[in-house]
Amino acid sequence: MSNAMKEYDKEKDVVRLNPISNGTVIDHLPPATGPTIIRMLKLSCKEPIMMAVNIDSKKKGKKDLIFIEGKELNEKEVQKLGLIAQGSTWNIVKGKRVVSKNKIEMPKETTGIIVCSNPKCITNNETLETKFTIANNMGKCHYCEREMNMKDIIKSLE
Ligand SMILES: [Zn+2]
Repeated sequence: MSNAMKEYDKEKDVVRLNPISNGTVIDHLPPATGPTIIRMLKLSCKEPIMMAVNIDSKKKGKKDLIFIEGKELNEKEVQKLGLIAQGSTWNIVKGKRVVSKNKIEMPKETTGIIVCSNPKCITNNETLETKFTIANNMGKCHYCEREMNMKDIIKSLE
């Protein structure tokens, strides 16, 4: 058994998938968010990706889990995850070992990931990265002050 597998056994969420050698594990995802996250991350599907949906979790009852070979998440991807899967974890695996465990948190601000729902917003008409402030499950556009709820925000990420 590899070290990556042992890490998961310790948490008592036994994973019966072949773990990846180098890449990212996104774990403890809310049930049924996995497919949205795969779409949102716009993965090339050239490397192995394994997803488990609605599997048993000692901590949460049910959870989703994604293994992505050959990929480390960048800052924008971590922000996207924060909007969808607050409280989940993303782990970096190198040489089959989990080298870093990180909690996914709701971002206070996002840059260049949410598409503003106001067609007249400058970010929809000029080459300019969007900026949103996130508070109380709402996002507010830095430029036009349009407010968007989480449902619309998540839709804009896909
Ligand atoms: Zn705007």
